[in-house]
Amino acid sequence: MDHAVVFGAGLAGLLSARVLADGFTRVTVVERDRLTGGPRRGVPQGRHAHALLPRGRQIIDELFPGVVAELVAAGAVPYRPLEQARMVLGGQRMCRAETPERGLALTRPFLEDHVRRRLLALPNVTLLDGWDAVAPVVRDGAVTAARIARAPHDHRVLDAALVVDAMGRAGRAATWLAEAGPGRPPVEEVEVNVGYGTCSLELPDDALGGDLLLLVGATPANPRGMALFRVEGERWILSAGGMCGDHPPTDPAGFLDFVATVVPAAMTDVMPALRAAPPPGRILPARFPKAVRRRYDRLRAPLPGLIAAGDSTCSVDPLYGQGMSAAALQAVALRDTLARGRHDLERRYFRAARRATEPVWQLALTADLAFPGVPGAPPLLSRLAGRYVARVQRAATRDPSCALAFARVVGLMNPPSALMRPAVMRAAARHGSPTVRKDRNRRRLTDS
Ligand SMILES: Cc1cc2nc3c(=O)[nH]c(=O)nc-3n(C[C@H](O)[C@H](O)[C@H](O)COP(=O)(O)OP(=O)(O)OC[C@H]3O[C@@H](n4cnc5c(N)ncnc54)[C@H](O)[C@@H]3O)c2cc1C
Repeated sequence: MDHAVVFGAGLAGLLSARVLADGFTRVTVVERDRLTGGPRRGVPQGRHAHALLPRGRQIIDELFPGVVAELVAAGAVPYRPLEQARMVLGGQRMCRAETPERGLALTRPFLEDHVRRRLLALPNVTLLDGWDAVAPVVRDGAVTAARIARAPHDHRVLDAALVVDAMGRAGRAATWLAEAGPGRPPVEEVEVNVGYGTCSLELPDDALGGDLLLLVGATPANPRGMALFRVEGERWILSAGGMCGDHPPTDPAGFLDFVATVVPAAMTDVMPALRAAPPPGRILPARFPKAVRRRYDRLRAPLPGLIAAGDSTCSVDPLYGQGMSAAALQAVALRDTLARGRHDLERRYFRAARRATEPVWQLALTADLAFPGVPGAPPLLSRLAGRYVARVQRAATRDPSCALAFARVVGLMNPPSALMRPAVMRAAARHGSPTVRKDRNRRRLTDS
């Protein structure tokens, strides 16, 4: 019975299983796809740009020591956000600054394959791929087993003291809770109506003048964003997307025209490099209608033996690239909860997981609700935070310490409260006012 079953072998499932392997005698991961390596049906978003933020990279390396070095040796591209990446956020280009930590640019299946291989090297972890998670079995108000199926008449029941729903956005823990008695958790949703397009490109190594990554965030003035970065296999991946229904076309020429409306005019090297590359064969589309957070932490009485992780609990707008790191933060929350024993594990875990991902949800919420096309009024606190963040972003175009503070928050290395440190506030006050910049520009124009 000291057996934990994880439904779903996406990143949240793999990281949860890693942590559970330290606390349970046996862990079984059940995955619907056959896992033969490479892109797969159950993770369609895996074909799109998936950079790993510094905090996600750090946690994954902590859980699987040396895995980042293995990934880099196999071709993944480490980058220092403000030294080797061009970051344009909130319409402002962050200035260069020394960045102690690194992100990792790679494709999603490549990351998952490496992490999975390391997980399955643990002696007490088993993977059942090609099996569908049906439901936990509940007896006397607690989970006692997990039912899985390979075909309509090929069912198995695995004894289980704990079942983890890590089935991504299709997660069903909320339904199972409703069926078992505790009821559905409250749900928060933000309709962002994001559409994505992605292609792989052959570009020269110095296509970005030596930089490894270009990231342009969407803004209310231009609800389009893009990411271009080098990945393993000497390729570049280009994703572009738009909020509120402003989606890229899927024909290669139209897609590049869309990208041209995102790349800042001052970056004169980017579009010529993209247009000179052999044309992409196909533009893969993706849709992301809404961000969803299920508040399992608010359940009056969680079901003993059932928890959830990753996108099945908190799935944010992909334009911010935080989802995998959020799953990693939840895995740490699970590890720390387990370290304090199993008593009331579900409630303690849900609360810790919510706290761990609160900055992710709040950062995305503040940014999303600033778009007039996104339904919902931002709460006063979000509006004030949004205004202050805009100041910090403007200051980050010229003040390296401010740029670093901001990059560390969006890289999830520091909580948003780090932006309230006196040095950042001083820089935001000195350099962040839009009027000061306008006046300076006017003066510059008059002088010339
Ligand atoms: C277009 C796009 C771009 C993104 N870019 C980034 C990025 O740059 N950086 C970043 O950090 N995040 C990014 N994300 C978010 C990221 O993909 C998710 O947050 C992350 O995949 C969550 O991992 P997960 O394990 O919770 O879910 P998933 O990765 O979706 O995994 C769920 C797993 O459950 C399995 N499953 C489902 N149903 C069953 C069942 N019944 N039985 C058994 N198995 C089942 C699936 O096959 C799959 O393996 C992006 C998302 C999108 C949509």
